[in-house]
Formats: sequence, C-alpha cells, structure tokens
Amino acid sequence: MIAVLLALSMQTTDDGNGSDYDVLIIGGGPAGLSAALQLGRSLRSVLICDNNEPRNEPAVEAHGYLTRDGIPPQKLRRLGREEVAKYGCEFQESQVTDITRDEDRFTSTLDTDVTVTSRKIVLATGVSDMLPDTDGFEELWGNGVYHCPYCHGYEVRDKPLGVLVTAPEQLEHTKLIYNLSTDLVVFTNGQDVFDEETRSEFVERGIEIEGEPITALNGTDDGLESISLADGRNVSRHALFYAPPTQQHSNLVNQLGLQVNESGLVETTQSQYGTGFTSVDGLFVAGDASSESALSIPCAVADGSMVGGTVNLELSRETFEERW
Ligand SMILES: Cc1cc2nc3c(=O)[nH]c(=O)nc-3n(C[C@H](O)[C@H](O)[C@H](O)COP(=O)(O)OP(=O)(O)OC[C@H]3O[C@@H](n4cnc5c(N)ncnc54)[C@H](O)[C@@H]3O)c2cc1C
Repeated sequence: MIAVLLALSMQTTDDGNGSDYDVLIIGGGPAGLSAALQLGRSLRSVLICDNNEPRNEPAVEAHGYLTRDGIPPQKLRRLGREEVAKYGCEFQESQVTDITRDEDRFTSTLDTDVTVTSRKIVLATGVSDMLPDTDGFEELWGNGVYHCPYCHGYEVRDKPLGVLVTAPEQLEHTKLIYNLSTDLVVFTNGQDVFDEETRSEFVERGIEIEGEPITALNGTDDGLESISLADGRNVSRHALFYAPPTQQHSNLVNQLGLQVNESGLVETTQSQYGTGFTSVDGLFVAGDASSESALSIPCAVADGSMVGGTVNLELSRETFEERW
C-alpha cells in the first residue's frame, strides 16, 4: 500500500533527471534524516541529498544522544539512512548546487547534473567550524581538541585540561571545564580577556592563566600532548577546549538570500502550524544551520523531527484545500 501511494506521488525518469518529489531534503545528517523519518512515515515522497561532509566527522565517538551514546558518527548516519529507507525515502550522495522556484515547485540542480523538482525543501546543511590557523589545530580537532564539554568532557575528566578563551564573553565556558577538572590552564593566546576581579577569582581557585600566544598544538593519533607558546615553552595538556565561531556549511543559504542572525544561523520562525519557516515560502531549515536549534545531535534530531512534521502538515493542508 505504501509503495503504491509513493509511486503515485512521484514521477521518475530512468536517469533520475526531472524526478518530482513532495520534499527534497538537503543534508543527510541527524536533522535531515530525522525530518525524513517523519515525512516518510507520512507517506511523502522524499529525496535526501548529502555530500558526506558531516560537522562531527573528525570525532571517533558521538556522545549525549540517548540510547546511542558513544556511537561512531558515520554509524549513526548509516543507521538513520537504513531506517528512513524502510519508508521509501530515497538517498543520493550528491551536492545540491542550485535552487530555483516557480509558482508551485522548486527545481534543484545536483552536482551529478541531475535536476529534481519538489513541492517543499528542507535545508539541513549544518554549519562548519572556523578553526584558528595554528599548527596542529585542525589535525587534533575532535581528537584532543574539543568544542563541547557535554560531547567529549566526561572522557577527559580529572585530566590536565586547557581552555582557549579569546574574548571575555567566553569565560563562562571555562566554568564548565573547571567542573570536569581542577587541573586547568586558561590560554588567552595573547588577547586581553580578564579584568582584575575575574583574574583574581580564577587564580584563587588554582586556575592558571597563560597569556602567551600559542604557536602549535602537539599530539599524535592518540590525542593532544602539549601546547607550544611563542616564548618557547611547552605546556603539557591532555585536552584543550575551544568553542570556535561557525559559518553556514552551504552557500545555498546566501544564494537563496535567507536571513541570518549575528551568529550566521538562518533566522527561522514558528507559527501555530509548526516551526522552521524561512523567508522563502515552502523552504524550511532544520538542525545546526537554524537559529532555533542548539548545535548538538539530540537538538538537531528534535528540530528535524519538528520541521518534518511541519512540512507534512503544510502539504496536508494544501492537499485538503485542493480537494475541496
Ligand atoms: C568535532 C565535533 C564533535 C562533535 N561531537 C558531538 C557529540 O559527541 N555529540 C553531539 O550531540 N554533538 C556533537 N557535535 C555536534 C554535531 O556534530 C552537530 O550538532 C550535528 O551534526 C548537527 O546535525 P545537522 O544534521 O544539523 O548537521 P550535519 O551533521 O553537519 O549534517 C549536514 C549535512 O549536510 C550536508 N550538506 C551541506 N551542504 C550540502 C549541499 N549543498 N548538498 C548536499 N549536502 C549538503 C553535509 O555534507 C552534511 O552531511 C560535534 C561537533 C564537532 C565539530
């Protein structure tokens, strides 16, 4: 029965070119797959396009997602793809490079030269982390250098830790790291981030403050070993925490002229019918890319689920009206 309904709602050609779907989901991470699950179970024809550049790719394990704690990131995505395939959702490993819209359909171009049309689009393209151009930073990112104490803090609890703070507003983050280990060095990389009072508070608690610029992070496949400073010293640390600024992963956000907030996240709105609405009618945003999510797997899954439900409600309302 499900297969018959899906076949009725989808016109395909042999090479996939010109195929028409209820919903194109761009991005097959936790947010996109979670939206797909809601839509597939609602008998919607769905294509997911993903170019396999997940934000957490460098991490060996993903933590904090109930029943999946410690799962390798790619395994989580594979399980998600298998789950949504059960409901007829199609998957293509490809990048969506262009989107245009006419009266009632979007036309999207894939880097495989295929074009597909859809009634709705869910953009679940995530964000990218903007890492400092310091030797060793990128190599150790996700394996000794971490953005989030909830994701990777427990595994390095009670070890000699560092936290990189380059602006006063990031000092709050330090308290989360101090909760994990009191053997803590705050690196300011030559920036002036402390006022006298805050500096005393930190020093009184035994936290070291290191103002010398960082020249390199040193480590192996097993993680971070030490941090080299401009004056030639090496500070031995087991892990370093740093919350970098992020940017939209996909330039489709720019191309579509979507509004972004001061952090570069797409401004989405809610209505009585749901969430994830953008300034482009029929185009929704879910997960890390959205101003409504909270940059973690469980939050991306929750947001994707709500946006998937919203899109299904929109389609259901439109069909209901058409049939009257
Ligand atoms: C190193 C690291 C470790 C992390 N560890 C954890 C953790 O342990 N626990 C946790 O909860 N969170 C963790 N996070 C955060 C987590 O990765 C994100 O919150 C989560 O992946 C967001 O899901 P998403 O689906 O919104 O985006 P993503 O997972 O980034 O997925 C977006 C997808 O869209 C695809 N895409 C982008 N543009 C296009 C396009 N034009 N066409 C086709 N596809 C496109 C990308 O290839 C990507 O696969 C970590 C982050 C980092 C950086």
